[in-house]
Amino acid sequence: MYYYTIIPHIKSVWYNICMRFDLLTIFPEIFDSYLQESIIKRAREDKKLKIFIHDIRKFSTDRHHKVDAPPYGGGPGMVMTAQPIYDCIRHVKKLNRGPVIFMSPAGKIFTQKKSEQLYKKHAKTGLIMLCGRYEGVDQRVIDLLVDEEISIGKYVLTGGELPAMVVLDAVSRHIPGVLGDNESSKEESFSTSLKRKKEYPHYTRPEVFMKLRVPDVLLSGHHANIKKWRKDNLH
Ligand code: SAH
Repeated sequence: MYYYTIIPHIKSVWYNICMRFDLLTIFPEIFDSYLQESIIKRAREDKKLKIFIHDIRKFSTDRHHKVDAPPYGGGPGMVMTAQPIYDCIRHVKKLNRGPVIFMSPAGKIFTQKKSEQLYKKHAKTGLIMLCGRYEGVDQRVIDLLVDEEISIGKYVLTGGELPAMVVLDAVSRHIPGVLGDNESSKEESFSTSLKRKKEYPHYTRPEVFMKLRVPDVLLSGHHANIKKWRKDNLH
């Protein structure tokens, strides 16, 4: 009897993690479509994920709400000024106790392992992510308020919004219940259960497509053989 009362309780605790993300940007509308579709949309509706977008421009004390200026020392492009970002981060830090992460090509390269660590360490507190634009942001704001810099790869994009969404998306997949089947984030490419290798190939209906057949073993219903085939076919 005890069994029946304790199990649902554990399950409900397990399922009730809600992770908070605060994204700081001068282009808030960029996030509109991606974060309102599919798995992320459902996770937000199910209260497993809370996302707040903050418009840095609203914090500018400049008469024209300017957020950039030419670089000291000369050179091309513009640099995001410290004041609006500083005030915006200070405001958000009252709402979110997690670390401030600056998306930057100069940061540490983001990996699946890093996404697991960010989830494990900050699921309860959340993450604050600063998105740069133009040539980047005034170094003093990084020195004063940024805890960590993360790059999503060795290339340069026009802004930190896509990188922030990449990190948010990858971390969200670790929140229990975000993926329909709770197992699917465990046995995935780069996960520890696949020894950080790339996943095996997938097949679905029909059995024959353009004369290509699904491997017989996957149709056999023989679970041990299927398991072995998948293990042997990691990339
Ligand atoms: N002048 C900078 C590039 C600025 S790109 C340099 O040479 O390093 C403008 C902004 O886009 C950056 O401030 C950063 O927030 C974001 N960004 C560009 N590429 C990125 C990457 N690979 N990973 C994370 N953020 C990136």
